[in-house]
Amino acid sequence: MRIETLAVHAGHAVDPASGAVTPPIALSTTFERAPDGTYPHGYVYSRGGNPNRTALEGCLGALEGGAAAAAFASGSAATAAVLQCLAPGDHVLAPDDVYHGTARLLREAFGPWGLRATFVDMTDTAAVEAAMRPETRLFWVETPGNPLLQVTDIAALARVAHAASALLCCDNTFATPVLQRPLAWGADLVVHAAAKYLGGHSDAVAGIVVAREEGGFFQRLRRLQGMGGAVPAPFDCWLILRGLRTLPYRMRAHTEHAGVVAAFLARHPAVERVLYPGLPGHPGHALAARQMAGGGGMLSFQVRGGADAARRVAAGVRLITRATSFGGTESLIEHRRSIEGPESTTPENLLRLSVGLEHPDDLVADLEQALG
Ligand SMILES: *Cc1c(COP(=O)(O)O)cnc(C)c1O
Repeated sequence: MRIETLAVHAGHAVDPASGAVTPPIALSTTFERAPDGTYPHGYVYSRGGNPNRTALEGCLGALEGGAAAAAFASGSAATAAVLQCLAPGDHVLAPDDVYHGTARLLREAFGPWGLRATFVDMTDTAAVEAAMRPETRLFWVETPGNPLLQVTDIAALARVAHAASALLCCDNTFATPVLQRPLAWGADLVVHAAAKYLGGHSDAVAGIVVAREEGGFFQRLRRLQGMGGAVPAPFDCWLILRGLRTLPYRMRAHTEHAGVVAAFLARHPAVERVLYPGLPGHPGHALAARQMAGGGGMLSFQVRGGADAARRVAAGVRLITRATSFGGTESLIEHRRSIEGPESTTPENLLRLSVGLEHPDDLVADLEQALG
């Protein structure tokens, strides 16, 4: 089945109790036992499982081509659960430009717990090999990267990881399964911040881990999900699943609009550099053309004149909203350096743009007036 059809039908069933076509929201925290003490519907208590969570996990698992999926209360909770499946003393390789929340988890939460991490340029396979240790158990990949839109070769790194019996986990939040399916390139796990494109309407936070196999690692993750309880609320699962139904069409529009905006910015004299994998000049363009089905809806650009000039552009937009996060219907612009904190290595004249579903001509007009 094609991804558009899967997005509409996976995890979908007409409610047998009422005939409702869209799923009811099961707010009940507890589920009835049969007289013989069994649980005929498979649910006991909502921390362990809930019908809306099951439907969401089923749908995203199908879209990513995975064997199983587990949903969490946020992308960061999903990331933490993957890291918790490792053991103290294990070593993790992560990108030097990894999502700052993931870097913080590795340094501040899992460092003291005994997990070792090395941050390395994951686009450089030789550098990755040089950073490996006998205790390396996990490669964390994020591609395209945030906010420099660096493109990492998932298949090449999966071969390196597997040769050393390590797992590869790909944060697929930027691309979504519509544009990139990491499991098909050899990744073992995929993580999503579902508040972004999956939900797609900036109204629910959740996270999901999808696993290629339902074996040992996933079973441990599932147990941690139940024990740790960082689970999403039924309504949030319902909202994210509703978002998934239109994901392929939204990603198509985001990609088309970002292409128009990137081409405009690349021609503008006030813009020093545009970082968008869909542009032929981008260092990751050829790899992205192979690994992805489109450049996606995220781009960054550097403004001539430094941090102040970049802030003036962000201050001058009227249609685009100044806010963090991305993947919603509305376009968002952000000065990344100021949100990433003191460890940030992001250029200070860089603005990140989440290109939304407005007409691209209106977005171009807004950027044109803001750039002056
Ligand atoms: C937002 C984001 C996360 C974290 O997700 P939360 O739901 O905010 O915890 C992880 N990775 C990437 C790439 C993100 O953009």
